[in-house]
Parts: sequence; structure tokens; C-alpha cells
Amino acid sequence: MSTPDELPRLDQAAKHAEMVHRIYQDRRAAPSARELLLAVAYALALAPGERGRVLNTAARVLGREGGRPRFDALVADDAPRYEPPRAAGNWSPGQAPGCEAPRLRPYVYRPRPAPSPMDDEAVVPLRPLPEPIVHVGPDYVPPVDYRNAQGICGADSHHKVLELDPRTGWTTPRWFCKRHVDHAERVAEQVREQNAAAPEPIPNRGGLLPAYFAAPWEDVYRSCAPASWKPPSYGLCADDWPDPGNPPPVSTPRRLRAV
Ligand SMILES: [Zn+2]
Repeated sequence: MSTPDELPRLDQAAKHAEMVHRIYQDRRAAPSARELLLAVAYALALAPGERGRVLNTAARVLGREGGRPRFDALVADDAPRYEPPRAAGNWSPGQAPGCEAPRLRPYVYRPRPAPSPMDDEAVVPLRPLPEPIVHVGPDYVPPVDYRNAQGICGADSHHKVLELDPRTGWTTPRWFCKRHVDHAERVAEQVREQNAAAPEPIPNRGGLLPAYFAAPWEDVYRSCAPASWKPPSYGLCADDWPDPGNPPPVSTPRRLRAV
């Protein structure tokens, strides 16, 4: 039997257990975000009387890394924001995705000439090479080269055009090679108006702290996140953001353009 004094504590323990369970079940929380949430939950359960000291307790249990409190780095990583795909970054040619301009002639593999002009007959073969073994059935059809299958150029890209989704504001990068610069310019012209009217992107990172705990999170984020961070207009809490799979309809412009 529990005494009346123990009842609030048991209630508190049950709430804490339920929250820990929810944090572990949250598919949005990467291990680092989960550690932050668990530290705050622990601090809340550990020091319920110390209102206003919860985040200090959480920061203390998270320790330091490289001379900096880990709490600050983890909170900065939980700052609600939109992160564009990696392919939208600044890539050097050869690292960027291949040119996506349409392919006119099928791609044909041409082996590069041997780097040394040595005469084949002058080279003493060390050992005869074995006959190649082909592990395929008689009805095997070799796979089509991806450039031919997708009908794209695929050469090293030098030009990037960013397309913004008119409903989510999310970025789709489009890459083009030097030969297809005219194509890149045409695509840039096509998306210019759409990009200008695109909404602020729906956040896709962070915003988990406000989903679990009530606190002046905007101030906390501001103190840890980079100076360029701004609270998203969709709200700080990841639970409040529109579902990008089912985004809000395109807002129609107030004035229709004269045709
Ligand atoms: Zn190309």
C-alpha cells in the first residue's frame, strides 16, 4: 500500500515513464535528439521542485564536448528549420549529380586509350590470362545503361537550377553539364515565377523539444542556434507543421496577372 505522500511521486514516475516511452517511439528523433529529450525528461522528473532549473540540470547531465556544452550543440541541432537535400548544395563537377538534360543519341561505351604508348608485342606476358567465365543464362539481356534508360545526358554537371515546390516550398535541385547550358537557362526561366511565388518551406528538421516540453523555446533556440536562425512561420513545434505529403493548397495570388 502506498501512503498519501507517495501518491504524487508515483504519479510523477508514471508520467515520466510514459514520456520516455513516447520519446523512444518517436521516429523523428535521431539518437542525438533522443538523448537531448531524455536528458530534459530526466531533469524534469529529478528536480520537479526546481522550476526554471530544469534546463541547467539537463545541460549538466549532458556534459561537454570539445570545450562546449553538448546541450548547446544538441539544442542548435533541434532548432526548427528546413534543410534542402544534399544534392542542392554547392558541389564541384564530378561530385554533383549527372546532367539531367534529355539525351538525343544513345550512350555508347568507348574505352579510353591505354595510358602508355608501349608496344603490346614488346611486353612479355607474365602468365596467360584465364578465359573469362560468364555466369549468365542464354536468355540474359545486359542491363541498359542508366543514361539510356532514363534518357538523360549524365555528363559532369556545372550548372545548378533550384526548383521550389509551389505547395511545400521545398527545393528540388536540377543539374546540367557545360554542353547543356542553354537547357539550364531555359529551365531557370521556366521556374522563375513559380520560385518567386513559392511559400516559406515547411520545416523538416528539429522542433522536437516543444513537442514534449513547455518552455520559452524560441529564446532557448536563439541562444544556441546560428545567428541566421529564424523561427519558422509554421511554428516551433514539429507536431504543428503541415504534412509535406499532403501540403496545404497553393495560395492563389490576390491579383490575377493581366494576360
Ligand atoms: Zn548534359
